[in-house]
Amino acid sequence: MTKIKYGRKRKLIDRGWRRWFLKWKCRKVSIKKGYEIGQALIAMAQHCAVHHRMGCLGLAANQLGIRKRVFVAKRRNTFRIYVNPEILEGYQKYEVVEHCLSWPDNPNGFKVTRYKTILINASNLENPMLLKGLDAQIFQHEMDHLNGVMV
Ligand SMILES: [Zn+2]
Repeated sequence: MTKIKYGRKRKLIDRGWRRWFLKWKCRKVSIKKGYEIGQALIAMAQHCAVHHRMGCLGLAANQLGIRKRVFVAKRRNTFRIYVNPEILEGYQKYEVVEHCLSWPDNPNGFKVTRYKTILINASNLENPMLLKGLDAQIFQHEMDHLNGVMV
């Protein structure tokens, strides 16, 4: 079992003055360190999925105060870790309303433009991969977090 190094005492940045941190771009990270951070993210994401009124479909490292390019996103009902993720191509734009654990005080959500299908890659993936629908939407939301873009 992997020890969760980054988990202890980490809190979700969801209100207050610390939010400026979320507007900073995250930095590249090694796969090894990325997985350590990913374990902490999964633990928090699973906790929020059960206990947060908004649920949780994904979580980026900077939402836990870690400025690294790692996030977890739900795909086929499991949280997957993406280290240094990137979007290579996007197809078919559409508008959708999203919510964010870091902005729980906006009940109406935010209108954003997303791609229906994206071609993605990450340091811990062997090959680029196509994501569609909700999988693609979650990935794009978390990708924005890593780039300091708040919905
Ligand atoms: Zn978010």
